[in-house]
Amino acid sequence: MGTDRSILAVGSVALDNVRTPFGRVSEALGGSATYFGAAARFFAPVRLVAVVGRDFPERHLGLLRRLGVDTSAVQRASGRTFRWKGYYGYDLNNARTLKTELNVFSAFDPQLPETHRTAGTVFLANIDPDLQLKVLRQVRSPRLVACDTMNFWIENKKPSLLKLLSKVDILLCNDSEVRELSGEYNLIRAARWALSKGPKVVVIKKGEHGVACFTRQMVFCVPAFLLEQVYDPTGAGDTFAGGFIGTLAKGGRVDAASLRRAVIYGSVLASYNVESFSLNRVAGLKYADIQLRFKALRAMTRF
Ligand code: AMP
Repeated sequence: MGTDRSILAVGSVALDNVRTPFGRVSEALGGSATYFGAAARFFAPVRLVAVVGRDFPERHLGLLRRLGVDTSAVQRASGRTFRWKGYYGYDLNNARTLKTELNVFSAFDPQLPETHRTAGTVFLANIDPDLQLKVLRQVRSPRLVACDTMNFWIENKKPSLLKLLSKVDILLCNDSEVRELSGEYNLIRAARWALSKGPKVVVIKKGEHGVACFTRQMVFCVPAFLLEQVYDPTGAGDTFAGGFIGTLAKGGRVDAASLRRAVIYGSVLASYNVESFSLNRVAGLKYADIQLRFKALRAMTRF
């Protein structure tokens, strides 16, 4: 059996408690897999692998399904849903975590149904690297494997994370994470360190300062789409990943031109996400909106 067009994504499906200088939400739909799926669905079929607790509102899963995201491998376990509590100051580039409650994720043992093992693309969104590895082992012969992570796992599960890096094609993470992971302050050195651990592509997200995409042969940088008002950066990284990986999965190639296009689509999706809390903006987005901002970002950066 060959691979198919779908993207398999494992990561958190969460209830978030977030405060920014411009508002706050509690028990809002969040999670790395959630944000990823809501963005990637514009480009390819997305199947999520995750676990939620008995307290997780059914309407949140209903929303993901209405967006076209396959939630058939999102298990409901007894216990509480993963929760993340964080805040941002006026420097919206740095989330400050106040509390991470793994809850049902601490005993999660993902078993992929047969339908999910033939995915052509695998996105290992931010979650315990041991879980990311467990999912990856069950996929037969994916064409493209990418992962994300965050400081929480760098600090608690570094050996597993390094093992994971040796098995992925693309690493996405933000600037402070790649600095912490590599022990290098300079981003070129940090990217080079990451490229020596396995991935062929390293994408470093720098919040409002945009993205730098490194391979051994090239670097491509774009600023973030300039916005008048940002309400909540939560999920920007995962939403970027959705646009980026979605574009690569749809095009079926990972050459320099495809990577550039993917970075732009990722940036466009992320720019919509930060305009409201939770999935409020991205859930109502149309493909035409994405194309509009794609052109606007091109006009903003061409020289
Ligand atoms: P981002 O802003 O793109 O880095 O991701 C924000 C999302 O990541 C939030 O919706 C959180 O629920 C989720 N999150 C926060 N900490 C963790 C963690 N340690 N593992 C998995 N997901 C997390």
